[in-house]
Amino acid sequence: MYGFAGKVLHVDLTKGTITIESPDEAFYRKYLGGSAMGLYYLLKNTPAKADPLGPENTLCFFISASTGVTISGQSRATATAKSPLTGLVGDAQSGGFWPAELKFAGFDGIVLTGQSPKPVYLWIKDGVPELRGASHLWGSGLPTGEVEKKIKDEVGEPKAEVIQVGPAAERGVRFACVINMSNRAFGRTGLGLVMASKNLKAIAVRGTRKPELFDRQAIIELNRSGTQNIPNNGDVKGLQDYGTASVVGFQNSMGTLPTYNYTSGYFEKADDISGEKMADTILKENDTCFSCTVRCKRVVETEYKGTKVSPFYGGAEYETISTFGSYCGINDLNAISLAHQICSEWGVDTIACGATIAFAMELFENEVINVEDTGGIALKYGDADAMLKVLNQVVRKEGFGAILAEGSAAAAKKIGRGAEDYVITVKNAELPAHMPQVKKSLALIYAVNPFGADHQSSEHDPMYVPDPDNNNDNLYLRRLKMLGLVDPQKGWIMNEEKVKYAYRTQLNYSFLDTATLCQFVWGPAWTLYGPEEEVAMMRAVTGWNITIDEIQQIGERRLNMLRAFNAREGAGRDQDTLPKKLFKPLKGGASDGRSVKPEELEFALNTYYDLAGWDKATGVPTKAKLAELGLEWI
Ligand code: SF4
Repeated sequence: MYGFAGKVLHVDLTKGTITIESPDEAFYRKYLGGSAMGLYYLLKNTPAKADPLGPENTLCFFISASTGVTISGQSRATATAKSPLTGLVGDAQSGGFWPAELKFAGFDGIVLTGQSPKPVYLWIKDGVPELRGASHLWGSGLPTGEVEKKIKDEVGEPKAEVIQVGPAAERGVRFACVINMSNRAFGRTGLGLVMASKNLKAIAVRGTRKPELFDRQAIIELNRSGTQNIPNNGDVKGLQDYGTASVVGFQNSMGTLPTYNYTSGYFEKADDISGEKMADTILKENDTCFSCTVRCKRVVETEYKGTKVSPFYGGAEYETISTFGSYCGINDLNAISLAHQICSEWGVDTIACGATIAFAMELFENEVINVEDTGGIALKYGDADAMLKVLNQVVRKEGFGAILAEGSAAAAKKIGRGAEDYVITVKNAELPAHMPQVKKSLALIYAVNPFGADHQSSEHDPMYVPDPDNNNDNLYLRRLKMLGLVDPQKGWIMNEEKVKYAYRTQLNYSFLDTATLCQFVWGPAWTLYGPEEEVAMMRAVTGWNITIDEIQQIGERRLNMLRAFNAREGAGRDQDTLPKKLFKPLKGGASDGRSVKPEELEFALNTYYDLAGWDKATGVPTKAKLAELGLEWI
């Protein structure tokens, strides 16, 4: 086999045993890696209704064929397990150098089962795995950066790459994440808490085995043409120049920058938190993932009221800037950068954490809670000091922060007094910073996505609008045609074609999360490479005569596995809903008065289930659909 390492590592943490599996090529071609392969082992190993924090949960990390290949946007990995935040399937991705290093260390994935009696970490060097004691690290309160340095010292490999859980996971914060290289995260769905429940502190990897490719020359040419094309692609160039925060201004002008806990799509101080502002003030340098020439990652150096923000922890992404910024009405990039650093040091998802604090701020502003509830903190919009005080409580699970550390949906239940009306979650996971009141295809995708609202599970509405000046022949529309999308739609509407757009691009994104490709480089419309290059790259790496149809089917298989997992837990259409507040009109800016209409969501759901081949009444994949995808075993 080309591309793959050909080996999957199985670690039974209860027994402390490690085995190595070598699946056959047919298995690899069917599940490919990433999220789908993780789901395969999760579905096989973890029974329905298992406790997400018990030994029966299975935590998987997977990469795929092209991980570690010298081309942009390939060094990503997925984490998969039952989520303690949603009680359903959990899924998260992260990039950097750890994924490529795992391939070089000789493995395509790691399947972790059981629960270690004592804290341990997993160390893999050139095909040789071992479990080492981590009691000296557990409970130490050391920030992730310090733990990473200690592990590198202990294994004697300064070039080892480390993923780990921080002190927040050890203390039980529900949205704890898995921190990667201290400055990135497998952020969503609380998978850091799952890893901590297994008493697994970290996974360090180091290797020297480069993957063998079917057609190395084709990869060299694709890499060269992509890199040369960056200046011609305004979206990707924007990422390179200003990071993911390059979209702050655009989002604000469209009225889709969530502000004051999703009350408005317009933040009057958005310029203060933009990627351009960051570049002009606190940006130290760009960072990148293995072999990626886009270099979208930010590294900042600054301070907030005497507390240093170190470049070691990178810099805030758009989502972090929004959740701790506009969601909370805060326009201080230094304070937001410090919040980002605290989340990285302690190991929590910045989206869930920032959004939960914004939710608490709205409760305070509306006098649902007061200083007696918050322990004296006047939790007002725009107050960065108050935000940081509460954040420090959340990561420590102390004071009022202990309530918020369960996530906003659980916190609302505990608080009562109508707090649930202010919750902005789907399946208990906080919404990211792209607004479905305007981008109507996202209203559908946020509702149906199996692991809660996700902005990186489909293409957004602005890519599929008519372009009469160019006879509909721009980059987006040319690429979307390859997915059978030939009828771009005007404005912010929901109709049958829009549902088709959402579904087909969802399948392509689902493929990306299975092939563990970066969605800023590979994708259906705006990225450096489109569907044609997805096919060309997969062929060059694996030698398989893969097609766009096969790519889409791989994405469809993974989507059905996610849904099937949830169905086993008893979840289906009943959970495909949106928070109440999204049905109320937005206030201010270009999206003033816009909302999601209940009837348009209902229409979109019915149309979507038909397209997906799922039962319309229950939203569950039919037996026929599962059989069509070779998933009759579920
Ligand atoms: S585009 Fe950014 S996130 Fe994606 S691989 Fe490149 S550097 Fe990493």
